[in-house]
Amino acid sequence: MKSIGLILVAGGSGSRMGNTIAKQFISLKSKPILQHTIDTFLSWNKDLQIVLVLPENQFDFWNSIKDLDRSSSYRLCIGGKERFHSVQNGLKELSEVDYVMIHDGVRPFVSSSTLDRCLNALSAHDSAIPVISPSESVRMIENASSIHLDRSKIRLVQTPQCFHYKKLKEAYDCSYENIFTDDASVFEKAGNKIHLVDGNIENIKITTPEDLVWAKTYLKRTNA
Ligand code: C5P
Repeated sequence: MKSIGLILVAGGSGSRMGNTIAKQFISLKSKPILQHTIDTFLSWNKDLQIVLVLPENQFDFWNSIKDLDRSSSYRLCIGGKERFHSVQNGLKELSEVDYVMIHDGVRPFVSSSTLDRCLNALSAHDSAIPVISPSESVRMIENASSIHLDRSKIRLVQTPQCFHYKKLKEAYDCSYENIFTDDASVFEKAGNKIHLVDGNIENIKITTPEDLVWAKTYLKRTNA
C-alpha cells in the first residue's frame, strides 16, 4: 500500500471574509471549518500523515478552540508569505511518502469519490488535479476589452492537488513567481505533465460570507 501525506494549507489571513476570526476557524455545526476538513480526509483514509500549515500567530488560538477533536493526529507547521511558501514549509515538515496531496484547509466538502479518483490516477500519472466545468459563459479581459472563450475548453481547478512526492519536492525547489496560484502551476513550470480528474461541485473554497451561508445550508441538507 502506498504511503500518503496530506498538507493542509491554512496559512492565509482570509481577508475576503471580512471577519475578525480567520475563515478556517469559523464554526459550522459547532466545529471549526478546518476540523471538518481534517475529519473529511481521516474518514477517507485514517493512515494519512497530515501536516497542518497555519500562520505562527494563530497556533495558540487554534489549540485553544474547545470544539477541536484532540484525537486527530497531525503536525503543525508555520505558514509563509504566499500559499507557495506555505506549501514549501509543509513539504519540509512531511516525512518521505509515496504520494502527497495538497489541500486548501477551507475546502471541507471534497468527496470520497474525488479522493478515490485522485489516488487511482496516481498509479498511472505523476499528478492528479481535480477540476470542474464552468456553468457560466467565460470571457477573457484583453486590454480595454474582452473576448469570448469556448467554455467547453475551460476547467476550474480545485484541490487536493496530488503528486508523486519526490517529483513535487523537486518542483518546489525553485523561487516564487506570481503565476504560482496553485501546485499544478509549480509542477508544470518544472517541466512535468498535469493530469486532470473530475472534482465535485460541492468542493468549494469557503472564501466569502456568501460561501459560508451556502456551507451552512449544505451541512444541514446532508446532515453531516
Ligand atoms: O488566498 P487563496 O484563497 O488562494 O488561499 C488558498 C489556500 O491557501 C487557503 O487555504 C489559504 O489559507 C492558504 N494560504 C496559505 N498561506 C498563504 C496564503 C494562503 O496557506 N500565505
